[in-house]
Amino acid sequence: MDAISYQRAADINGAIAAAQRPGAVFIGGGTNLLDLMKGGITHPVTLIDITRIAALDRIETLPDGGLRIGALVRNSDAANHALVRTRYPLLSQALLAGASPQLRNMATVGGNLMQRTRCQYFYDTAFAQCNKRSPGSGCAAIGGFNRMHAILGASAQCVAVNPSDMSVALAALDATVQVSGPRGARAIAFTAFHRLPGDQPHFDTTLQSGELITSVDLPPPMFSDHAHYLKVRNRASYAFALVSVASALQLDGRHIRTVRIALGGVAHRPWRASVAEQHLAGRTLSAATLREAAAAELAQARPLNGNAFKVGLAQRAIVRATMLAAGPYGAAGSPTGDFA
Ligand code: SF4
Repeated sequence: MDAISYQRAADINGAIAAAQRPGAVFIGGGTNLLDLMKGGITHPVTLIDITRIAALDRIETLPDGGLRIGALVRNSDAANHALVRTRYPLLSQALLAGASPQLRNMATVGGNLMQRTRCQYFYDTAFAQCNKRSPGSGCAAIGGFNRMHAILGASAQCVAVNPSDMSVALAALDATVQVSGPRGARAIAFTAFHRLPGDQPHFDTTLQSGELITSVDLPPPMFSDHAHYLKVRNRASYAFALVSVASALQLDGRHIRTVRIALGGVAHRPWRASVAEQHLAGRTLSAATLREAAAAELAQARPLNGNAFKVGLAQRAIVRATMLAAGPYGAAGSPTGDFA
């Protein structure tokens, strides 16, 4: 059994100072960290409890009309907050698609960003090969059971996917992650927060050592009228996504003024579908145009032996999610999307 010390931080500066000790990690809701500790996957020396830092537990409007969601806000509180539900329905939908009610009541926004992949070989220490758990050891998933794994942006070192639903919506919404650390505060564009695996899959994010997430900032709302989060999974609740899509539109009738699409369950980070977005911007919304855009995005997919089905599934999910986001302009409810 590991010896672990515990320290409760009273404020942000105190937490950052305590994190300079070797082996120190922050703990909020602990819904992923405690699993990792019990499984022997991570071995912190000191747990720095940040749950009493009141400054991190707020949702507040920003001067530019955006919204700041503190890192300690619980997933359920964020999902059900009036300003999130009315101005950022995409985020509310994605949060409510994640985990279970009990977990959402405990898990924090900052912790959601930091949760680690659910690759079964990563969690099962009986498997020696896992570059994310033991750098340089290999990857058991590449030749193993990889139905849930990546089809985009993977490497020969790791084919794991990011498990977060919330992060897919935040990628589409162009959120910003605010962090504080020993060298001060900085802002990280959401799409630059999570990494592709490359040859260092043991790093999930671009956080520097000792940095603490303080909030997630949303820009002024643009997509409150036309947004949809679609999650395709093996069962109706409490399952990670095979594929998910966050789709948001600004429309003039059927003319697409602005479009944002991000995918989950397909890559080591939330995958911003920039190829599809470029294909759709300025076009007239139609099923054929959506299918073309989805096919163009997935042309870069490199499926494994067990997950080729995800390529077509992701294309159909992009069409379906965007059709539902468009509402009456997308003939929501049409199973075929043939609404043009
Ligand atoms: Fe480990 Fe990544 Fe391979 Fe899974 S996919 S076994 S996390 S290296």
